[in-house]
Amino acid sequence: MAKTEFKSESKRLLDLMINSIYTHKEIFLREIISNASDAIDKLYYISLTDSGVGINKDDFKINIDVDKENRIISITDNGIGMDREELDENLGTIANSGSFKFKQENGQSEDVDIIGQFGVGFYSAFMVSDEITVQTKKYGCEQAYQWQSSGVDGYEITEIEKDSVGTKIILKIKEDTEQEKYSEFLEKYRISSLVSKYSDYIRYPIMMETEHRKLREGSDLDNPEYDTVSELETLNSMVPIWQKNKKDVTDEEYNEFYKQKFLDFEDPAKVFANSVEGLVTYKSLLFVPSRVPYNYFTKEYKKGLQLYSSGVLIMDNCSDLVPEQFAFIKGVVDSQDLSLNISREMLQHDRQLKTIANTLEKKIKNELLDWLKNDREAYEKFFNNFGKQLKYGLVADYGVHKDSVKDLVLFYSSTEKKLVTLKEYVERMSEDQTDIYFATGESVEAIDKLPQMEYFRDKGIEVLCCGEDIDEFAIKGLNDYDKKSFKNIVNEDVEGESDSKEDNKDDDEALKFIKDVLGTKVSEVIFSKKLKSHPVCLTAKGEVSFEMEKYMAMAQPEAHIKADRVLELNAAHPAVTALIANITADKEKAEKYAKVLYTQAVIIAGLPVEDPSEYADLVSSLMV
Ligand code: ADP
Ligand code: MG
Repeated sequence: MAKTEFKSESKRLLDLMINSIYTHKEIFLREIISNASDAIDKLYYISLTDSGVGINKDDFKINIDVDKENRIISITDNGIGMDREELDENLGTIANSGSFKFKQENGQSEDVDIIGQFGVGFYSAFMVSDEITVQTKKYGCEQAYQWQSSGVDGYEITEIEKDSVGTKIILKIKEDTEQEKYSEFLEKYRISSLVSKYSDYIRYPIMMETEHRKLREGSDLDNPEYDTVSELETLNSMVPIWQKNKKDVTDEEYNEFYKQKFLDFEDPAKVFANSVEGLVTYKSLLFVPSRVPYNYFTKEYKKGLQLYSSGVLIMDNCSDLVPEQFAFIKGVVDSQDLSLNISREMLQHDRQLKTIANTLEKKIKNELLDWLKNDREAYEKFFNNFGKQLKYGLVADYGVHKDSVKDLVLFYSSTEKKLVTLKEYVERMSEDQTDIYFATGESVEAIDKLPQMEYFRDKGIEVLCCGEDIDEFAIKGLNDYDKKSFKNIVNEDVEGESDSKEDNKDDDEALKFIKDVLGTKVSEVIFSKKLKSHPVCLTAKGEVSFEMEKYMAMAQPEAHIKADRVLELNAAHPAVTALIANITADKEKAEKYAKVLYTQAVIIAGLPVEDPSEYADLVSSLMV
């Protein structure tokens, strides 16, 4: 019979597997077992509503058989099985493997380092096998099939006789070479330790015939005689890791579980394991990733936790369980209070689920607060990754999450030169300071150079430097902290700033002149109370700030949302006095000065110059 070729990308990966020099070849067993477990999950789920399945909950299992002489390991499950099309689809195309898809989307081109980090599923068995045979019968089908392949040259599917539903994977283990001792995988103790290491929490028994020495019955205790007996032994504890007591689980086990389950290369930055009893009873095991997932800030990223009901997976990505501000949290929730065959639609209105979500929100908040308190450095690293998300929580869902986030967000302090909490800021405030000062701009560095910062720097008043798009929205959403309101020093006058110019008629005329020159570009021209060494600055009056204008220009360009520009002049600055003097002496020059100074203010505010070539002409004409 002619062999079917593997699809091209599968071929490449297969080749890699067969010739792999990867040291973690042992993960093949984990991959095969996890597939068996998935297949049983599927049939078990059907059996809840379909009595035709005829398998009791306790009869689902995975069997491992070892035939050392013939170098064969076979793994048998009584799961859902596959029909011919599925064999062809699932095992003929590596692209069907979840991990491979992930790798492709992640733009990984170097295949080797990904193997074993979380495996490449079924194909990893080729790292240790010369030939793989899959015998399978799908639930509800009459005919059983066999899929066989010895590697890159393709595979063959034939019809076979098989009584029971499920799948048997038969691995012909490679001969030992100088470098590689494949025979170790034929040792039962090795298999048994691999199962404990990687597959302990699989919910179905993983059984293997093992030999034990047993005291011969009636044997004399002074002179004992033993028999070697074979017994079918369950190799895994079947207790999901999240059901275990925290003290019985090592960090490494948690990390391993996280990486496998949530397809990450790196250990999590933080693990929160909790057991809750009360209004609802549940266990949760949550993780904070140590890096931002590649698709995190795209629509593709799906927040949510895996939801189990007494150990049975009912939803892979239950988004209702995590509030927006904690969207980066990965993990598992298992509750015995949820009904098993609850539908997705019903879940949304489920009271128990709402209660769980509420307690989880508090739990996560408290865990993060503890983290902030006890390991500032690690927390700041986390904040650099996901701080944006926390800030977003201040505005998301009409601000209902404010209280759970306000003490978790950090801002860069102009005086402390580091990230600080709002609480720390307020504690440092002097008695006569009533508001929390912040400044918005392109970046912390750009804010530091703003003319508006001079006054505060001189006075040693702390200002929170908000260099991110989200910051201003976040602060608007927060509205106040500890009954103190926020003041954006870029836009608003600040108490204590002294008037540097008395009102008089000449000044009014000068201001009117400049306003006329600039026309609709500005809504107002005033003398500043805050400028020291800079001649001019631009501030925004009203609801829309410059940062919002910039943000909206990107997010919704068609809306043409613009801030109301106020040009502030430093009356003490020679450039401004020169401008005013020229209003009577040389009107044309005064007009040019006004335009140049305005454009400078625009540039400092980080806004685009409306007509760069006009500006260049102006400056050149003043130079000659
Ligand atoms: P993944 O598990 O990430 O989907 P794999 O390469 O491990 O990728 O497996 C590919 C597919 O083959 C699985 O998604 C599943 O549909 C099918 N499969 C593998 N092993 C079994 C099995 N024991 N029973 C039923 N289907 C299986
Ligand atoms: Mg798999």
